[in-house]
Amino acid sequence: MPREYKIASMPGDGIGPEVIDAALDVLDAVAQYSGQFSLSFDNLPWGSEFYKATGTYLPSDGLETLKKYDAVLFGAVGAPDIPDPVSLWGLLLAMRGPLQQYANVRPVKCFSSIEPVSRHVRPKDIDWVFVRENSEGEYAGQGGRTHRGFDWEVATEVAIFTRHGIRRIMRFAFETAASRPRKLLTVVTKSNAQRYGLVLWDEIVEEVSKEFPDVKWDKMLVDAMTVRMVRNPQSLDTIVGTNLHIDILSDLAAALAGSVGIAASANIDPTRKSPSMFEPVHGSAFDITGKGIANPIGAIWSSAMMLEWLGEKESCTLVMNAIERACAECNTTRDLGGKLNTKQVTAAIISSIGK
Ligand code: ATP
Ligand code: MG
Repeated sequence: MPREYKIASMPGDGIGPEVIDAALDVLDAVAQYSGQFSLSFDNLPWGSEFYKATGTYLPSDGLETLKKYDAVLFGAVGAPDIPDPVSLWGLLLAMRGPLQQYANVRPVKCFSSIEPVSRHVRPKDIDWVFVRENSEGEYAGQGGRTHRGFDWEVATEVAIFTRHGIRRIMRFAFETAASRPRKLLTVVTKSNAQRYGLVLWDEIVEEVSKEFPDVKWDKMLVDAMTVRMVRNPQSLDTIVGTNLHIDILSDLAAALAGSVGIAASANIDPTRKSPSMFEPVHGSAFDITGKGIANPIGAIWSSAMMLEWLGEKESCTLVMNAIERACAECNTTRDLGGKLNTKQVTAAIISSIGK
């Protein structure tokens, strides 16, 4: 009997549906090619249109619904007429926390034929995995505003760091580094200026590193890290940092590797008690929505990460090799300097599966 996986597909807003359609087509094709497993998809219509119709992004039983699935494939959320914090907190952050998806994994590499944007960077220099703390830190949602509208108005945005939260992400990062050939981890902090949370972060790195004697690790302040990524990219492999720091650094990384359109991510619950969620790094990109030109590689790569997480490692490799081949043959969208549209790139990737 082939293995069966139930997937929740949540295309969301903007180009989300266009790139998730592409990912579903590739998943269907690779499942068929492999013959070892089958995937069933349920479409969950949660996003900004759903919010406008019902007043909520996530239905009250939404989290319970999601727990019935083996994994979630997510497109993007956000609309021009809804403030970003409303959509972000209404859907994405409302899922990541309760589903305990505390590790956000963002691999970055430069595919063949894609020119890195910096002359300091050669394509083979970029093969990184970012591990972002995804449950606390600067996006803990703690803070408030007083004296609204007055000159003496005050707003606080409190970053929360817990020993438990730091230790679990640090272990995940060391495990990730240990699983890669170079066994190299860079820990990003800003503990020269942030005296409490990131000093605790520094202390816990020292403790956890003792559990992983095979991993070589070093520490970088986040500002110096931006320079190192551009000037000395080949010195990096696995990188771990806080919610805010890795959010920013991984966007820089995606741009260095060619386009945010190819960047993939996974929101992982390493305990496997809840389904993990796989999504392209880019947002809803309303400037190109409906034109059929969105780069589907970020979503397709994310779906390959989903296959790997489900245990279908061979099929993950098939998809990654197909992306590599399509790029090598210059079958890319405009953001990468190509001429193809979303459907043509998807077809090129599908026809490369197993070749
Ligand atoms: P969000 O607030 O959700 O992050 P955003 O508008 O700030 O959304 P993106 O939606 O990621 O950010 O878009 C940033 C830029 O990158 C836009 O110009 C967009 O057209 C471009 N872009 C994003 N995703 C893609 C893609 N898949 N293919 C091509 N271009 C893309
Ligand atoms: Mg953005």
